[in-house]
Amino acid sequence: MQTKSLKHRLFWTWDHSMDWTPLTQGIQEWGASTPYHKQPGDFVRDYTNLVDFCAAHGFTGVIIYGFLRDGHGGIEAAQEVCRHGRARNVAIIPGIGVNSYGGVYWEGKHEFSLPNWLDLHPELEAVGPTLARFNHYYRMACPAKAENRRFMLDSVRWLCETFDLGGINFETGDNGLCQCADCQKASSQDRNWSPTDIVTLLPPLVEAAQQARPGILPVCECYFDTILDTADHAPLRALPEGSLLQFTNREHEYLQRFLKEMTPEKVAAMPPHAKVLRTHVGSQWNDHRRKLVARDLSAMVQKVAEVGMDGVTLFGEVSATSVVNEINYLSVAAFADAPALTWDGFVAQTLGPLFGGEGQAATCIEFLEKTTVTARDLQEAKAILHASDERSYRRWLWMVEHLYQRLRRT
Ligand SMILES: [Zn+2]
Repeated sequence: MQTKSLKHRLFWTWDHSMDWTPLTQGIQEWGASTPYHKQPGDFVRDYTNLVDFCAAHGFTGVIIYGFLRDGHGGIEAAQEVCRHGRARNVAIIPGIGVNSYGGVYWEGKHEFSLPNWLDLHPELEAVGPTLARFNHYYRMACPAKAENRRFMLDSVRWLCETFDLGGINFETGDNGLCQCADCQKASSQDRNWSPTDIVTLLPPLVEAAQQARPGILPVCECYFDTILDTADHAPLRALPEGSLLQFTNREHEYLQRFLKEMTPEKVAAMPPHAKVLRTHVGSQWNDHRRKLVARDLSAMVQKVAEVGMDGVTLFGEVSATSVVNEINYLSVAAFADAPALTWDGFVAQTLGPLFGGEGQAATCIEFLEKTTVTARDLQEAKAILHASDERSYRRWLWMVEHLYQRLRRT
């Protein structure tokens, strides 16, 4: 087993689904690309808390969709988040849509918000049955139009000049493709996203970002469950040097395939850029975002290290005060530092001190993995709570409440 630690450990988030501010209202457990229902100040509080957690546990960056929105403080609030990230050495990485997902300014009265651009230039909107008919946030621009390419270039330059960014997560959109004659000719229409768009639209934007902000990390989204098709990745060599290729695992079954089938030889045949695997394990779309997925995450981190990839991206919207999420995050931190670690070693060394001892940590995992909870489990957790120390108290208090809620539902 290769023991080289992973360079990149990134969190992926939507602003409206963040839950890192205690006792706040308007959290969205489910739903993406929606309005912001939390209090405006929660944006800075949420990301300040997440950045502090990153700094304490070796996570290197936070991807933020909805980075710019009038409803949570617009430019100033986003600058404050960047300042905090820089002070803690955690890269702040806005997620931006290229001709999709609002452009660089997700929502508000701003020239670099894509819907505003399309209102001014309706002839530049994508043609055909895209998801925009369900949700105006999904409006798309036609990628074949030179005016849209210039708009994206100006947007990215402005973003880099206005914010002290650690990176940018570029994506070309996954909500359907423009059906105009030029786009149909340029790209096969067999999926909701276009590999051709990735390699033709992103290079000038990545280069503009690198020029405006030397040292920036361009994270290029390569989309869903294709990383094993290594023969298809040759076109990605067109992405500029310094780009980080982010392949995304969406389906749980595909993660199992990745664990079985990926090899160092396959990775060596891929483009030479740094590569991360982003996973939907434990996301609101795939499982449940408050579920124990630490075994899957740690297996993924180990595999990524073993085959010579450079890092992982996982969802980070739920605060570590939710103990089950804390364990998920800590498993990634621990295995990314030391991929040769074993699961039992993780439970004993990382969780033991936090839960009042190795035995208590093992009991905690046992409770979280039970399909059915009994009154006896609750009694046992209460007994551990009563005997707990300063460090483990809040975690067992959470566990007692968690077991109580589960028992009530049975
Ligand atoms: Zn088009």
